[in-house]
Amino acid sequence: MSICYVNGSFEDKSKAMISIQDRGFNFADGVYEVMSFYGTNVINIERHLKRLEKSLEGLKINFPYTNIKSLELILKKIIKLNYLDNGFLYLQITRGSSHRNHLFPKAISPNIVIFTFNVKHDEKLTSNGVNILLSDDIRWGRCDIKSISLLPNVLEKQKAFENNFYESWQKRGDYITEGSTSNAFIVNENNEIQTHPSNNYILGGVTRDTVIQIAKLNKLIVKEEPFNLKELKECNEAFLTSTTAKILPVVKVNNVSVKNGKPGMITNKLIKKYNHFIDCEINESN
Ligand code: PMP
Repeated sequence: MSICYVNGSFEDKSKAMISIQDRGFNFADGVYEVMSFYGTNVINIERHLKRLEKSLEGLKINFPYTNIKSLELILKKIIKLNYLDNGFLYLQITRGSSHRNHLFPKAISPNIVIFTFNVKHDEKLTSNGVNILLSDDIRWGRCDIKSISLLPNVLEKQKAFENNFYESWQKRGDYITEGSTSNAFIVNENNEIQTHPSNNYILGGVTRDTVIQIAKLNKLIVKEEPFNLKELKECNEAFLTSTTAKILPVVKVNNVSVKNGKPGMITNKLIKKYNHFIDCEINESN
């Protein structure tokens, strides 16, 4: 049995219900977060909930709790009710349910859904690295909002999968923005870590921000500037980041090897440091 949360009540996932007039269902009018947890500790919880608030603000949906703490307590309760040692939390907040009309209804309260899920971690991806497909970024100009409107990402990820790539990296003109489900990094010719700045063209990844912080703490130079196809071709290393994948070395782009086609030293160092960061987060609140 899997317990989820729907608008204030904890229910068996197979019985949980949402109205067909939910604006998330009709218009993709909502936002989401994906968080990882170990024990009852949600990793990087402040960063996730801050981004959630920003996403809600972007869509002019009111934060549906009196404060962040009440939401944190619900997240912990869901984990406990599911008796899980670790996994992921999916949290979705839509504008609410109302008869279908593009205009925001006047009296409406958000629909909130939270459930847990698991992703099988394939250690081979971390040790061997992954192959990336390049594609055009056809998304809107507010990719910083973690909106549930994910159709371009879904189509790109599917295309990558069908062609035996792990992920697709999207480009606007000559410049890489981010992956369909992850942030994109290179270690450039000068051994600087380079990634697209956190603006409206990418989702400011929680893992991205943490990795940048860890890199700087370890005296690595980080350049938050977009890299182009030429820089990608000439880079020393590449990697991607996300909550579910953590850090994965990118060893091929469009089937062409990045340098010698093996995970790079700086990437491997960041993987180690990031795992250590997670261990500290787990131990800190125990
Ligand atoms: N960009 C996109 C488009 C994503 O979907 C994700 C994963 N949610 C990320 C970046 C990585 O974000 P995070 O590190 O917060 O999981």
